[in-house]
Amino acid sequence: MILVFLGPPGAGKGTQCKSLVDRYRWCHLSSGDILRRERKEGSELGRKAQSYMDSGKLVPDDLIVAMMIKELNTASCGKGFILDGFPRTQGQAEELDKALQKMGRRIDVVLNLEVDDARLEQRVTGRRTCPVCGTAYHIVFNPPKRENVCDKDGQPLVQRPDDTAEVVCNRIQAYHQQTAPLISYYSKQKLVKNIDGNVPIDEVTKSMFRIVDGLSA
Ligand code: AMP
Repeated sequence: MILVFLGPPGAGKGTQCKSLVDRYRWCHLSSGDILRRERKEGSELGRKAQSYMDSGKLVPDDLIVAMMIKELNTASCGKGFILDGFPRTQGQAEELDKALQKMGRRIDVVLNLEVDDARLEQRVTGRRTCPVCGTAYHIVFNPPKRENVCDKDGQPLVQRPDDTAEVVCNRIQAYHQQTAPLISYYSKQKLVKNIDGNVPIDEVTKSMFRIVDGLSA
């Protein structure tokens, strides 16, 4: 199974990917997470990506495509994988199609998580994450039991530096200009399943499982 997850920043892709991984045991390949890891390690790629990420712009296609194709080829994902945050441009989508063709594989489904623009900024700016276990919270919609502390391991929660109001506007703009056109790219291939992401997290998860269970049945 190869599943591509599309949706604007703040749609809840990361949270829903965790539920998918728990249920189906697929690999979760998040281009944003991989870039953050590269930055932490101080790699050349991490250094090149830094200014784009901090300003909410997309990292150039050539860097991203090379990084993700390497992950696809090396990750041990026998059962399948979820692509989260990649592809984000038509150029990336075309390169992904070519690479998968070489591997004798193809995308099975594209889940498009739809959320109204008006909700996105609040969702992104209220987001907090545990730096140790990666559990995601929201200060209003999904708060931890103790303020700013992870329920699972008691670590202080952190905010991503690009989850600020200034940067999120650029990220939403980049989504509309460069990523949203992928909905029609994949619709032409009859791969897109839309999911209403405006409803509570559990309801989104249920709709998503209904779609994915239907595919593998
Ligand atoms: P994310 O965690 O998916 O919100 O990604 C964080 C940042 O990483 C984005 O704002 C971009 O700067 C960069 N990024 C992640 N994935 C991609 C991609 N597929 N193409 C270009 N830039 C990306």
